[in-house]
Amino acid sequence: MAQGVRLIFLGPPGAGKGTQAQVLAESCGIPHISTGEILRAAIANQTELGQQAQGFVDRGELVPDSLILNLIRERLQEQDAQQGWILDGFPRNVNQAEFLNTLLTELKQQCDVALNLEVPDATLVERLLSRGRKDDNQETIRRRLEVYREQTAPVIDFYQKQGSLKSVDGDRSLEEVTAALEQAIAS
Ligand code: ADP
Repeated sequence: MAQGVRLIFLGPPGAGKGTQAQVLAESCGIPHISTGEILRAAIANQTELGQQAQGFVDRGELVPDSLILNLIRERLQEQDAQQGWILDGFPRNVNQAEFLNTLLTELKQQCDVALNLEVPDATLVERLLSRGRKDDNQETIRRRLEVYREQTAPVIDFYQKQGSLKSVDGDRSLEEVTAALEQAIAS
């Protein structure tokens, strides 16, 4: 896969965004920027960001945009992000998507493709429960799926209207999904 590619991963919790983003980031030699991972590290280290984010993450709510937007602004200006990037977990609502558009214009960058991983609910819940992360209990999962439908699903329309959306069936083996994503990026 080519360097210089800029990708946004969309899809519900448990769709496999993190796994696939990691694989593609390695094959493209570009950073995988996961806001969920950044927040989990901040919480583990009890930084100021972590302390402010923890309650929201534990409840399955989105953390306030005020905590996320600056973080993304700074991350996209780091040296390793100048040759491309994969965003995973951001943007997660329409306000974040609008912010990202403005930021990318400022940085004279453009997102190449927004990849939407489609997976049925039953598969999502099964995958999340078997993953066993701290925020992967029944109640939090239910809330994360609700928050996804209410706040994140509209981001799919946002990129559809922008003409950069490509949807891929994520309900297949890891390798098949990777191949489908590579094809979607190349086409
Ligand atoms: P999942 O893919 O299972 O939803 P993530 O690792 O992407 O998990 O995110 C875990 C949690 O981190 C979310 O439930 C939310 O609380 C918080 N989070 C991650 N990214 C964002 C974001 N862009 N805006 C607000 N909250 C976020």
